[in-house]
Amino acid sequence: MSDGFAYRLRAVHVVFGTGSLARLAEVVTDAGLGRVLLVTTPGRRDTAAVATRALGDVVAGVLDGAAPHVPASLVADALREVERLQPDGTVAIGGGSAIGLGKALALRAGLPLVAVPTTYSGSEMTDVWGITAGDQKETGRDARVAPRSVVYDAGLTVSMPAALSAASGMNALAHCVEALYAPDRHPVSALLAREGIRILAASLPDVVRSPFDGGARERALFGAHLAGRALDLTSMGLHHKLCHVLGGTFGLPHAMTHAVLLPYVTACNASAAGRAMAEIATALGGETAWTGLHALRQALGITTTLRDLGLDAKDLDRAADLAVAGAYANPRPVTRDEVRDVLQAAYSGAPPRPE
Ligand code: NAD
Repeated sequence: MSDGFAYRLRAVHVVFGTGSLARLAEVVTDAGLGRVLLVTTPGRRDTAAVATRALGDVVAGVLDGAAPHVPASLVADALREVERLQPDGTVAIGGGSAIGLGKALALRAGLPLVAVPTTYSGSEMTDVWGITAGDQKETGRDARVAPRSVVYDAGLTVSMPAALSAASGMNALAHCVEALYAPDRHPVSALLAREGIRILAASLPDVVRSPFDGGARERALFGAHLAGRALDLTSMGLHHKLCHVLGGTFGLPHAMTHAVLLPYVTACNASAAGRAMAEIATALGGETAWTGLHALRQALGITTTLRDLGLDAKDLDRAADLAVAGAYANPRPVTRDEVRDVLQAAYSGAPPRPE
């Protein structure tokens, strides 16, 4: 190691283990919260009901309408409920959409957040928030939105269908990939990212083959935890920017968009990120980073293209325009036309190739 490094770690109480949902009441009390608002997506109502029973009297109310990319109108509705119910904090149960609404309430109403993730999005470990008004998604970083406590119970992930599990796992892998070529990477973030890739690549095929395999589910969730931490410690690049544009403006499903794009953006950045590419290839056990990611994606049965996800060919131009608007970290400076080429390849399903 030749260079020194510095980084900050935010304090967060992490409880990890199958069955940990049973400890939620203790975790909420530990976080110093009295009455809490529970937020979830319509699809996770059953899990939220189990949590409500476990928490008992401390539940001030339940909001079960969370939606992808945190629509501003939902935040406004939720803030009215906060005004009415006066909770001390929020418990978000679900994937990135539920946690995203919890973060919006932390940002706008100052409510501390406890997260119980049920996907591999990694959002529970970060201070990154996003709110979508109209067709534009605004994102930012703010220490107030980072969950104070996180309860990881792999039992809650068993119900994720194989396709969502695979796509969500690729979302976690994308955090690790971009963390490795981030300008602010350091030995600790790199360690987390390499190990996250290794664990996710080894466990996701088992999860897809046997969704009820509790051991595989625990390993994948642990990989997602490491990925979330790596994401939190570094700045994301072109890949995350494109996913926000395609999700926020064109309504594409978040995790699946990550899964489709990742091998293409990795190949696009290859010439400017030699060390990261070698690390990714080694962690994946692939010949190159992008062929390894492409092979994993195929092994997981994710063979869709941006076209299959519902993007219209006429939107490729606007997506490229939006992706180069605004500054973000990327190892390789890319032109609008190069981004358009990446999108075109992912749209048609051509094999990923370095620029
Ligand atoms: P999601 O939360 O939208 O969930 C997708 C669907 O799966 C929903 O219908 C949900 O109810 C269902 N679901 C969730 N868990 C399930 C389970 N265990 N079993 C069965 N169904 C389940 O999807 P996501 O990919 O987790 O999150 C996407 C959102 O998260 C996007 O808005 C994205 O921008 C955000 N995100 C934010 C960060 C961050 O750091 N801020 C990181 C990653 C993703």
